[in-house]
Parts: sequence; C-alpha cells; structure tokens
Amino acid sequence: MIDHDQPLSLRERARGAYLGLAVGDALGAPVEFMTRSEIAAAHGVHRRMTGGGWLRVRPGQITDDTQMSLALGDAIVQAQGWDLRTVAEHFLAWMRSKPIDIGHTCRRGIVNFMHQGALEVPYEEGAAGNGVAMRNLAVVLYTVHSEADLVRYTLEQGHITHNHPLSDEATLALARMTRALLRGEGLTACKTIADDLVTRMPKFRYVPYPHRASGYVVDTMQTVLHYFFNTTSFEQCLVQTVNEGGDADTNGAIVGMLAGALYGERAIPDLWLRPLERESRLRVEAQVDALLTLAENLKPR
Ligand code: MN
Ligand code: MN
Repeated sequence: MIDHDQPLSLRERARGAYLGLAVGDALGAPVEFMTRSEIAAAHGVHRRMTGGGWLRVRPGQITDDTQMSLALGDAIVQAQGWDLRTVAEHFLAWMRSKPIDIGHTCRRGIVNFMHQGALEVPYEEGAAGNGVAMRNLAVVLYTVHSEADLVRYTLEQGHITHNHPLSDEATLALARMTRALLRGEGLTACKTIADDLVTRMPKFRYVPYPHRASGYVVDTMQTVLHYFFNTTSFEQCLVQTVNEGGDADTNGAIVGMLAGALYGERAIPDLWLRPLERESRLRVEAQVDALLTLAENLKPR
C-alpha cells in the first residue's frame, strides 16, 4: 500500500524512475518515427497503451530501451559491482537474443566488442545518438551515493557503443539529474544541472523549444528537458513528450525516468502499469532492490 501523505522514499523514487522508463518506452513505441501531425491524425492525442506502430508491439510491450537498461543492470548485479567486460558481455547476449529492435550505433559497438573484444569504440562524428542516454539508469541507481563513480561508469558503459562528446554530456547531465531527484533534491537541482549543460554546450539550448524529437541526442535532450520542466504531472509529461513523435519511445523512456524519480511510483497511472509486460516489470522491480543494496557499498565512509 502506498501512503500518499508520506514523503517519497529513495526506493519509491527509484521504482518510479525504472517503471517510468519502461512505461515511457511502451507508451511511445506505437508512435515511434511518426510525426506530430501523423499522430494527431491517427490518435488525436496518443495516451493509451495501444500497441502497434512500425514494430507492431503488443500493448505494454517494452523495446530495446528498457531491455538494454535491464542488460546493464543485470551485469552490475551479476558482477556484484562494476566490471565493464561483464557489461559488454550482457549487451552482446542481449543482441544475440534477437531483440525486437536495436539501434544502428548500438549494434555496431556491440559487434566491435564481439569481434575485437574492444570495450571502447573510437570517436566518430555521427555517433551522437541517444542510445547511451536511454540505458544508463542502472548506473545511476548503483552510484546514487557516489557522484565520482557515476561519472566514471556512465562514460565507460557509454563508450562501449558511442564515443561522442554530445552523447557523453547529455548522458552525464541526465544521470546527474536523475541522481539528484532520487536523493530528493528536486527540480531546483535539476534546473542547475540543465543550465550548466546549456551554458557549456549551447547546442542543447531548449528554450524556445524547436520541436525536433529525433534520435540525435541534441533533439532528444531538448524534447526531454522542455517537457520535463514545463509539465506538472507524470502523465502530462509523458503524454506531451511521446506526442512529439520522432524517437518517441526513447524520449518517452528518458523523460519517464526523470518524471518517475520526481513524482514517484505512486504517480504512474495504473492504466499504464497494468498492461506493462509482467516479466519485464518483475525484472525492473527486482533490479531496483538489488542495485540499491549494492549502492550501499559505494557510500563514503
Ligand atoms: Mn526502442
Ligand atoms: Mn527509439
């Protein structure tokens, strides 16, 4: 039972973030790669777990965004801490499981590990995708008590597939925002982190919002930051984000992670949680507890 008058615990925020990620993925998948006007013509406002889309997902089915997050989390749990090779091996095992979808840059990086055993891809101009940002939550949960470890592990897991400063900086900013939210530091702390990102890398400026929502990490960040800061509930935040279309499941997953960490599990509509595929939901919930337990080992003494 959730007592709605109690302040949110770390565990409830963590469950909110991870279930929020999965819900955003499943809600966005049916409208992935559609434009705003195509969505409006087909759905009016898309706000239900309809299933469908180019991947023909079942209602509540998650895609690569949640699956890669789970693979990363499983690697941390299996290694009982951080071991980059174990992470790469989990990505490879996931790729071999013939997932419903896999991004181009992610596939190339995992193939690079498979063939060369390399844990880092070289810098590449076109590698500024959102595929690292979407899968980093397990690192944030594991490092919730240690910012130095958060930075190191975020960059290391990212470079298995993506090596680009825009991707690094976006993922780090999201990681720091999520960590701040988990620690109850709220929107003010998030705004400071987002402002700092925009000051250092003006490409990420999201005011005025340019209404581009592709898988380019700059578009993703602008979409996520705009809707996260300009909505006042979990539901409104996710609905507005995925109705931008473009990389709707990934943008939905990322903003769902932030909104879930801010508003907590209690704010996620039951109409969205109930259809969520059961096996993935159970894995998410088990991982939250396992990662928060391991996180105790990184507490400063
Ligand atoms: Mn996806
Ligand atoms: Mn996507």
